[in-house]
Amino acid sequence: MQALGNMEIGVLFWAGDDAAATVREQKSLGVRCGQMLVPGEMPLDGAAALWKAALQAENFTLQTVFCAYIGEDYADIPTVERTVGFIPAATRAAREARTLAVSDFARELGVGGLGAHIGFVPEDTGHPNYVAVRDLVRRICDHAARNQQTFALETGQEPAPVLRHFLRDVDRPNLGINFDPANMILYGTGDPIEALGILGAHVISVHAKDGDWPPKGSPEALGTEKPLGQGAVGMERFIDTLKKVGFKGQLNIEREVPDHAERLRDIAMGVKLLEKLRG
Ligand code: MG
Repeated sequence: MQALGNMEIGVLFWAGDDAAATVREQKSLGVRCGQMLVPGEMPLDGAAALWKAALQAENFTLQTVFCAYIGEDYADIPTVERTVGFIPAATRAAREARTLAVSDFARELGVGGLGAHIGFVPEDTGHPNYVAVRDLVRRICDHAARNQQTFALETGQEPAPVLRHFLRDVDRPNLGINFDPANMILYGTGDPIEALGILGAHVISVHAKDGDWPPKGSPEALGTEKPLGQGAVGMERFIDTLKKVGFKGQLNIEREVPDHAERLRDIAMGVKLLEKLRG
C-alpha cells in the first residue's frame, strides 16, 4: 500500500458483498485511501484474501477497519444506549470475540488501525458497565497491539472530558480516538471544535462529516446528518483546528444516507470542498 499525504482525503465505506466492486467504487470518487466498516454479519472466513486482492488491484490503502455489530440500531438516543457497542451486557462477550476476529482480519490485510463505536460510556466510573467496558477495551487494545494495531474509539456519544478520563483510565499506548465532529452535534454532546482542543493529543484518525443539532425540546432525538459544508460543524474551523493540534492523518469523508446515488454525489462534492479548505 502506498504512503499517504498529510490531510489526504479518504472515504469511510461499508464492506459490500463484492470486494472488487466495493473498492472500485470508492476509487471512482477520486480518492485512494479510506476506512472500511465491517458489518456484524459479514463472514470473515476466507474474506481477507478477497479483500487483499481487491485493495491491491486498485492500489487503495486502508487505514482503519471498523467493527459494527449485529443488533445495533441508531434510531434515537435511548435506542443507541440500549443497542450499540459494548454497553449492552447480553451481547458483550460475543461482540468482544467479534472485535478480536476483525482485528485478525485487518492484520491479514496489513491494516494498522482497528476502530469501533463502543457505546455510551457511563460518567459514573463505579458503574458496573463502566468497569466491564474499561476492562474489555484493555483486552482489545492488548490483542490489537499483538497485531501491531491501534484501537480507535469513535467519538460523539460522550462529552470530551468524560472520554478523556476513560482513555487515561484504560491506559493503553495504542488506544486513541477517531474524532467525528458531526457526532458531537448529532448527539447534542457539545461543541466539536472545543472538544477537539481537549482531545487533540488522542486523535488517531478523523471523519469529515457534517450535521445539524437535534430539535430543541426533544432530548431523545438525534440531529440530522448533512452533506459536508451544509451542517453546523463549520468545516473550515474544523480543518484549521486539526492543523493547530498537529494532526497529520487523513480526512475520511463519512456520509450515511439511504440513497446510494445521493451518497456518491455528496461524497464527490465533499472531496472538492476539502481540497479547497485544506489548502
Ligand atoms: Mg463517524
